[in-house]
Amino acid sequence: MLETHGQSVQKTHSEQPVSFSNASSIEDKWQNTANLLRHEIGDTAYRNWILPISIRSLKENVLEISVSTRFMKDWVSSHYADRIRAIWSQSFSPLSSVEVIIETKKASAASDETTNKMRDDGSNTMSSIAPIPETHKGPSVNQNTALSDIDAISSPLDPRFTFDNFIVGKSNELAHAAARRVAENPTVPFNPLFLYGGVGLGKTHLMHSIAWSIKQHAPQRKVLYLSAEKFMYQFIKALRFRDTVSFKEQFRSVDVLMIDDVQFISGKESTQEEFFHTFNALVDQNRQVIISADKSPSDLDGIEERLRSRLGWGLVADIHPTSYELRLGILESKAQQMNKNIPEDILAFLAHKISSNVRELEGALNRIVAHSDLIGRPMNIETTQDLLHDLLRANERRVTIEDIQRKVAEHFNVRLSDMHSVRRARSVARPRQVAMYLSKQLTTHSLPEIGRKFGGRDHTTVMHAVRRVEELIQTKLEIAEDVDLLKRALSS
Ligand code: ADP
Ligand code: MG
Repeated sequence: MLETHGQSVQKTHSEQPVSFSNASSIEDKWQNTANLLRHEIGDTAYRNWILPISIRSLKENVLEISVSTRFMKDWVSSHYADRIRAIWSQSFSPLSSVEVIIETKKASAASDETTNKMRDDGSNTMSSIAPIPETHKGPSVNQNTALSDIDAISSPLDPRFTFDNFIVGKSNELAHAAARRVAENPTVPFNPLFLYGGVGLGKTHLMHSIAWSIKQHAPQRKVLYLSAEKFMYQFIKALRFRDTVSFKEQFRSVDVLMIDDVQFISGKESTQEEFFHTFNALVDQNRQVIISADKSPSDLDGIEERLRSRLGWGLVADIHPTSYELRLGILESKAQQMNKNIPEDILAFLAHKISSNVRELEGALNRIVAHSDLIGRPMNIETTQDLLHDLLRANERRVTIEDIQRKVAEHFNVRLSDMHSVRRARSVARPRQVAMYLSKQLTTHSLPEIGRKFGGRDHTTVMHAVRRVEELIQTKLEIAEDVDLLKRALSS
């Protein structure tokens, strides 16, 4: 895949500081945008996802870009389109959206043959991720051996995700200690090791650290790391090519198997079944299995009971949300890695304001550094607030259902207790419906959760309320105005 995009490799690789006023053609603007993004997401992601993008057109505030596979399209759309739009809008002209289209190119290199074969079959697009070039394969690991089967199905390891770069605090010390133990112990201390925690709190970082550490200290051990998603694609591919025997052999020949984000296979029965057998086979042979998920084994929905209970047999280590001190520590270490002198008050500001997850925190820091490096914007609180207004807003906009109920009750002049009561009079039922609607819109709570907060109502009642208010907004101007007013009051 890299060869087919040789041209853009040359172009976007320029590291010259850019002067935005000179960026006239859309190609130039794209290069500038890509450069800024590169600072935010790092070289590996940049190489894999941004470099292969071609720029198509800019029409009526819609920027059209193209990639060569459906998988690339999905990934770029969900992970980068929004940032591309934001950076472009901030630096050049406002964009309303970034559209990603697929433009298949004739593959030229023979090495593309396998990836193309998988790509053509439609469901195996996961396999079309470009292999990371050797020079990016991370900390001093012997690279002389040819890619084995295992390396070919392994997901790429991020060279930055090592134990050295992992900052330990109260919230992650158990998970970190367990990961170290598993990485350094020649035998199997607990099986499986199950790491769980919210998004962006370091699960993948710890798993990659284990892989790097074993590759360095015990290179004879076969380590296989992959996302649960990729495990499923491999399995489907094996089924399709009637090759499940070698699939089984491959997976069962490893010393250490790591499956990231296992919640992905919830509800996917045959994948779970296969995973369960692989898992048992490995544990029975005393091979190490390491799993990550966003929830504890007992809270994983859609996972069969016998698998769920088996997952909890070894050590279950959770990662809690970060504390202010840990966030500050991470920022300091990151600034040091980048060799940047960043004023202490900015780091403190970021650690204070961006508490949701470490990925966002890093993204924020990268954005500030990129803008200072590339266009010489001064590093101070004012610039920081300006550059990060979207992120800061998102972090502040954590409205609770209770806030919504209070505001809505005030607005319609009803009692707060009416939000929970069984009274059905229109004068209280309508405000209650509006509050349910706003809870769905402004919080991440599920319908059943919302129902519970409104006096233990059923989720279908909430769904009905949401639909009803949606209709009313279309047909009744005053309701539309009320909702708009409340939304703004709650989001400011
Ligand atoms: P998860 O897999 O839990 O969603 P990741 O492991 O991908 O989260 O972490 C998100 C980002 O935050 C990564 O860039 C990672 O390096 C960073 N990160 C998370 N926790 C720490 C930590 N304790 N020290 C340093 N970096 C961290
Ligand atoms: Mg992860």
